[in-house]
Amino acid sequence: MIPKELKLPPKHVFPLDEWKIIQKRFALKHLGQDETVFATGNGYLGFRGNHEEGTPVVQRGTFINGFHEQWPIRYGESAYGFAKTGQTMLNVTDSKVIRLYVDDEPFYLPTADLKSYERVLDMKAGVLHRDILWETASGKQVSIKSTRIVSLEHRHVAAISYEVKVINAPARLIISSKLRCSTETTTVEDEKEDPRKSRSFEDSVFVPEVSQVKDQRVYLGHQIRTSKMTIACGVDHTIETANPYSFTSESYADSAKVVYSVNAAQGESFRLTKFMVYHTSRSAPVVELCGRAERTLDSVVQEGFDALTRSQQSIMDEFWENSDIEAKMYKDRRTQQVLRFNLFHLLQASARVEGAGIGARGLTGDAYEGHYFWDTEVYIMPFLIYTSPNAARNLLRFRYSLLDKARQRARELNQKGALFPWRTITGDEASAYYAAGTAQYHINADIMYALRKYVEVTGDEEFLFDYGCEMLIETARLWADIGFYSQNGKDEFHIHGVTGPDEYTAIVNNNAFTNMMARENLRYAVDSLELLQKKKPDLFEGLANETNLRHEEIEEWRSAAEKMYIPYDEERGIHPQDDEFLKKEVWDFENTPVENYPLLLNYHPLVIYRFQVIKQADVVMAMFLLGHEFSKEQKKRNFDYYDPLTTGDSSLSACVYSILAFELGYIDRAMELIRYSAWMDLADVGGNVKDGAHIASMGGTWMAVVYGLAGLRDYGGRISFNPQSSPRSEEVRFPLSIRGKMLEVTIGKDTVTYSLKKGDCLTIYHADEEIKLTQEQPSQVRGLVEKAAGLVDN
Ligand code: BGC
Repeated sequence: MIPKELKLPPKHVFPLDEWKIIQKRFALKHLGQDETVFATGNGYLGFRGNHEEGTPVVQRGTFINGFHEQWPIRYGESAYGFAKTGQTMLNVTDSKVIRLYVDDEPFYLPTADLKSYERVLDMKAGVLHRDILWETASGKQVSIKSTRIVSLEHRHVAAISYEVKVINAPARLIISSKLRCSTETTTVEDEKEDPRKSRSFEDSVFVPEVSQVKDQRVYLGHQIRTSKMTIACGVDHTIETANPYSFTSESYADSAKVVYSVNAAQGESFRLTKFMVYHTSRSAPVVELCGRAERTLDSVVQEGFDALTRSQQSIMDEFWENSDIEAKMYKDRRTQQVLRFNLFHLLQASARVEGAGIGARGLTGDAYEGHYFWDTEVYIMPFLIYTSPNAARNLLRFRYSLLDKARQRARELNQKGALFPWRTITGDEASAYYAAGTAQYHINADIMYALRKYVEVTGDEEFLFDYGCEMLIETARLWADIGFYSQNGKDEFHIHGVTGPDEYTAIVNNNAFTNMMARENLRYAVDSLELLQKKKPDLFEGLANETNLRHEEIEEWRSAAEKMYIPYDEERGIHPQDDEFLKKEVWDFENTPVENYPLLLNYHPLVIYRFQVIKQADVVMAMFLLGHEFSKEQKKRNFDYYDPLTTGDSSLSACVYSILAFELGYIDRAMELIRYSAWMDLADVGGNVKDGAHIASMGGTWMAVVYGLAGLRDYGGRISFNPQSSPRSEEVRFPLSIRGKMLEVTIGKDTVTYSLKKGDCLTIYHADEEIKLTQEQPSQVRGLVEKAAGLVDN
């Protein structure tokens, strides 16, 4: 991998703190990045880290997972089977805005005379604070303290506490709390056409239906023009102050506000608590959603802000207990903070997803239009399976709910079985560029791979039987149908005309990753159905009936798996990425100026496709997911070959390359790549953090520690570790939930300790040594495993 230079933010901008991201200075030029970094969310509702005052802003952002508009994709030149309906996650009614005027002087961050400024993302408590001391032109010192919560307990609820105090004089305050439906387009234009960004709509797609005021409470309800989705946003306020005040409330079709007029005495605070509630639906009428919003508001206002912070804290405590990585790594000690930042955003992207997927940028920005990709199953799911298995289950059930659409899509593509969409919100394929979209058939196998990991690590066989087997039947059918036995006299099963994970190479024959993952999918289908037949014959019969499963089909899958062709180049001893890859010219990396990366923004796809140049882990990814299929020597050769061809253009590579580098004993390189992956967003490695956090890379960071440094391998449910020592890592500790038990792994300088924290007993492996942890002997210590013989750090 060719990483761009990792420039860490200076410590005075982000001071060191294990549990907090702290910003000591307001900087207009970092506003967009900060909006992502300081975003708060719960997987259903997400707020960008916009300042309360509403301006300045790079992207005002309030997102509801899966809440979208759809639109007909228009092709200059269309063809049969192209995706027809685009889906775009919408930037919904913005309820965060609270404007402040002191003696009619507006508080405006860029020009305000700030005596002190601090913004803190408190990852331990799950809240965002801002604390400002502003001196007005007339010398009045105004303290403004705010705390923002997007509730993890009540997924429809968020709240802001906004407290103003004039310290050295009396003053007249106007505080205007607003609610505003987004009528503007979503994304700020860039100089370059960036396909990763969200589309914008020319006219508002929000059709106003309800606008209501009742004292300090306001509601806005809308229906979306084409998708017909509905949304209600209700806002209520409570006030704590000894200052005399009055208020007025107004509402219009697309906006509403409650304006407080306060005669503030010197040193007397005015605290406004704003409760915000969102309800959305694909079918319920707006008025009904307003009714729901009303009921939610009633209860949350009654419970109060403190109750919200308390429940947030207890959920956060549980989260950290189940998911934290405690790390003393690298000299600068900043890793702890940045690792927690990754974990915290993973939580915010996934906690209350329920009935949806996880967008590529979570709910921190609308890049990639809020679409769900393979990111969820391959990069995020391992973290969830080991730390929050219920969330993993929900995500797999969500995929199951899309199975019928996947069946239809396969029919549309003249194929049997089911084909899951490469990118989607609704289950319909939304990729308008089939070469890097629909052609990524591997999505089917990725989902089945995650299913297998989930079942094996959690032991939830019921899920496999109730939902998994049906998906396995349909995905296996697809592979059996698109592949064929080659006519080369070798009786091999080939899969042609697909795109692997590396999007710098498209529509190829026998992409090694795809073939291996398809083989895995086919094998797992055969094994699972045999298991079902044995354990629950009635259920098997029922399923076979419903899906018209013929016994011969299972045999066909077995045979396709056995005969699956996996490209291998004897001479080089490597796995070619596909049939043609090694015949191409190698990209001229030496003469490619730094500013021409990412290549996708500077070269026509055809130019890129002509060369050996890789956007993201492909064969190397296969070596991680299906490591047992490769010999150590093959892994080394493949890694050495593909590493220099891989650009840093995707955030999805560093973590995977790091895992393999650990396995191969390239410890320095591996440690460098962990850092690179962990800092992806805080150091704005890709230069596009302003468009949202790279959630897959965050899941990948967890993997780089757990599968990389600790060397976890879990294929077939056999949990083994192969921890590595590095002078850059003093101590790393993390918990894993395995079949309802909790294991804690602590990797020190020379030893590793495995401790059973919950549960009666657990069998794991340290390299090849079996270790039984029991209540009598809950902890065992071992020396760190030597690096692979003959391999040295590079
Ligand atoms: C990557 C895909 C990924 C998508 C969303 C693309 O740039 O090539 O593999 O799924 O981003 O993160």
